Amino acid sequence: MTVFFPQHTASSFDRAPKLPCVDDLVASFRPTEPLICLRPATLVAAAEDFVAAFPGQTMYAVKCNPDPIVLRALWDGGVRHFDCASIAEVELIRGMFPNAGIYFMHPIKARPAIADAYRLHDVRCFVFDSAVELEKILGETGDAGDLDLVVRLALPPLGAVSDLSAKFGAPHDEAVALLRAARPHALRLGVSFHVGSQCLDPLAWRRAIALAGAAIAEAGVAVDVLDIGGGFPVPYPGMEPPPLGAFMAEIDAGVEALNLPMRPHLWAEPGRALVAAGVSVVVQVQGRRGNALYINDGVFGSLSDAGPPGFRYPVRLMRPTEASLQNFACWGPTCDSNDFMRGPFVLPGDAHDGDWVEIGQLGAYSTALRTRFNGFDRARVVEVRDGKIAGTE
Ligand SMILES: *Cc1c(COP(=O)(O)O)cnc(C)c1O
Repeated sequence: MTVFFPQHTASSFDRAPKLPCVDDLVASFRPTEPLICLRPATLVAAAEDFVAAFPGQTMYAVKCNPDPIVLRALWDGGVRHFDCASIAEVELIRGMFPNAGIYFMHPIKARPAIADAYRLHDVRCFVFDSAVELEKILGETGDAGDLDLVVRLALPPLGAVSDLSAKFGAPHDEAVALLRAARPHALRLGVSFHVGSQCLDPLAWRRAIALAGAAIAEAGVAVDVLDIGGGFPVPYPGMEPPPLGAFMAEIDAGVEALNLPMRPHLWAEPGRALVAAGVSVVVQVQGRRGNALYINDGVFGSLSDAGPPGFRYPVRLMRPTEASLQNFACWGPTCDSNDFMRGPFVLPGDAHDGDWVEIGQLGAYSTALRTRFNGFDRARVVEVRDGKIAGTE
């Protein structure tokens, strides 16, 4: 991908007022390739809101958006801990933030990744969901006695839009055995889970915490950390989640109900909730057939979740018009017929070839998933001072 990272001298937040706005950039660049617009002030504010609302340690899930400008803005918003899943993510975070807390939260890791994280990058927290992985972690770190060991618990589907329950996690009986096996080796012992992404139901956390509590009670060992994962939702057209406070209330009630002798430290691993609103992408319309627009970004670029997962996004046509709004579908630029986004994208009915459209709420699982397929890998990355996009819906 051809990208352009503006040099940063001060923190993103300090410079936000001096940044250009999206309309001025489009007027001067007239971009024929996607223009990825990062909003440092929006990212800082989302991080501040979550850190203030969550009564524990906030760890950003790096996979959601690893752009260095995004990471810097989250740091400026008070995020000091990072959930990493690969050695490359560990290296990225350690390179940017020498004092950050790094947590290796992938349950199945390569042995050299464990060793390098521990020895070279000062990682002391590792997650696992099997006895084999626990043995790998202890072997590669020399069982040094300074580890935070976290058992990832499997969950039944709990209503997330993107359900991840099938891939990772130890079922109850195995989690009990792993807690007992890990206790003698752990400086701090933890239980984690992930309810799945864009989970709209605050009760999902309450139920998951009860399942974690059942495993802890049966194991009969002291547990220091309860990691309630990510999955906190953001608004999209047609999808309006309850406020963050409703989730925090269920989490608090869930932990209280466990009645543990000692209240565990709470950790959370938000991704989407911190970054979704902080990025938009300006695309250009390159053709139109009926109610379908051919645009220059798509399912193999920044818009994979607009493909089969069917996510909808706020949009705005970047020119004045009197035309009334209508529903459009969009085709992406590749020659693959799967490069189709049913939307609907709600835009003025006279949208045509050459128009620019800003698509908002694209900070999460979007630009991070761009591919080089079919040669449509070019995009320009800019920082802007705009707030949330004033799109339709
Ligand atoms: C992806 C992931 C997250 C972040 O999920 P969001 O839905 O973006 O908040 C957190 N924890 C784990 C283990 C993950 O795999």
